[in-house]
Amino acid sequence: IFYQVAQQLPHLGMKTTCTSSQVSDDEQKKGKNICSLTMSSHVGFESLPDQLVNRSIQQGFCFNILCVGETGIGKSTLTDTLFNTNFEDQESSHFCPPVKLKAQTYKLQESNSYQPIADYIDAQFEAYLQEEMKIKQSLFNYHDSRIHVCLYFLSPTGHSLKTLDLLTMKNLDSKMNIIPVIAKADTISKTELQKFKIKLMSELVSNGVQIYQFPTDDDTVARINAAMNGQLSFAVVGSMDEVKIRNKMVKAHQDPWGVVQVENENHCDFVKLREMLICKNMEDLRKQTHTRHYKLYRRCKSEEMGFSDVGPENKPVSLQETYEAKRHEFHGERQRKEEEMKQMSVQRVKEKEAILKEAKFEHLKRVHQEERMKPEEKRRILDKEIIDFSKKKATCEIFQTQSFLATGSNLRKDKD
Ligand code: GDP
Repeated sequence: IFYQVAQQLPHLGMKTTCTSSQVSDDEQKKGKNICSLTMSSHVGFESLPDQLVNRSIQQGFCFNILCVGETGIGKSTLTDTLFNTNFEDQESSHFCPPVKLKAQTYKLQESNSYQPIADYIDAQFEAYLQEEMKIKQSLFNYHDSRIHVCLYFLSPTGHSLKTLDLLTMKNLDSKMNIIPVIAKADTISKTELQKFKIKLMSELVSNGVQIYQFPTDDDTVARINAAMNGQLSFAVVGSMDEVKIRNKMVKAHQDPWGVVQVENENHCDFVKLREMLICKNMEDLRKQTHTRHYKLYRRCKSEEMGFSDVGPENKPVSLQETYEAKRHEFHGERQRKEEEMKQMSVQRVKEKEAILKEAKFEHLKRVHQEERMKPEEKRRILDKEIIDFSKKKATCEIFQTQSFLATGSNLRKDKD
């Protein structure tokens, strides 16, 4: 935007001179009788912030905070305290096995894996990418659900960082701006807290975790941001309870050992966090999300799909060229596959035909064999019948001879 305006301003000036030159060339040369245009208001860059503010107020904008940390660490309470709201009061259980993100409450259920968080962030990037790639895109009124900042809640243990926290931050630092927050800072003494802060930051640095750094390139916030970068992380106390202190109701956490005022900078870093997050760096967090984290996701996605800004030999290529090359490549690949499939189907048909031929021959052979077997079987049956008949005949003959002999001896007896 700044670039475009800078281009237009000299153009405006030139036009004014040109118009006056038509009135009288001689007089213009002498610098007399020049028709000067009076501006209704001042033209300059100063009006830009107002324009941006007005546009943001009219359109609105999204700023999404993701709170990550174990159940009961104080995420909901801090968010309520930050925005003076009351998120749905549904307690999260420690015993809920799957990890889920309840987008409406910004609560994360207990888990021992960072993957669901990574998936959630990627899903928001993907939704934006899909909108961006539409021919008829409407990013103007798009509901941006990308995570602009992650408040990572750490227990005030005073000991080393938990492996799970370290692993989670390490794996998510390229996807979003992470700000570490020491929760329930009232439960640890000031000296222990100071030591814990130093230990925590040195562990993050030695493990190569990239946490969000407040920008120092803008003069108006450079000093405070540099100071805050040196004091990270934020030790906070969250509470919606109010206590009367010097005739004034203030948000505070009442402990058995005293009252911790949430908005007292000597008691905790709540005000600093709110200031840094909402007042000073909200726009930078949004910008970093878009230019750093989203662009990285977009680049990886494009590369996954085979798109790149440079071709072989590191020569720059346009999207159109890459698209054409890809189309050509896919076309060739498709033709090759089609040819391969054709060959395969011809081969299959041949194989099938051979099998069928073989099967047919076998079938005919069997039929022929069966046909040949039929007379032989009949002859065998007949042979058997002949043998049976011969046997029967022989038996009959024996029987006849015996009865003839018996009849002859009976006759002889009668004669005697
Ligand atoms: P979440 O599960 O992380 O959202 O935790 P909650 O916000 O529901 O808080 C769990 C409990 O911790 C509640 O009883 C809160 O009152 C308490 N709590 C929240 N913030 C603080 C704090 O800063 N200090 C102390 N001492 N207790 C807190």
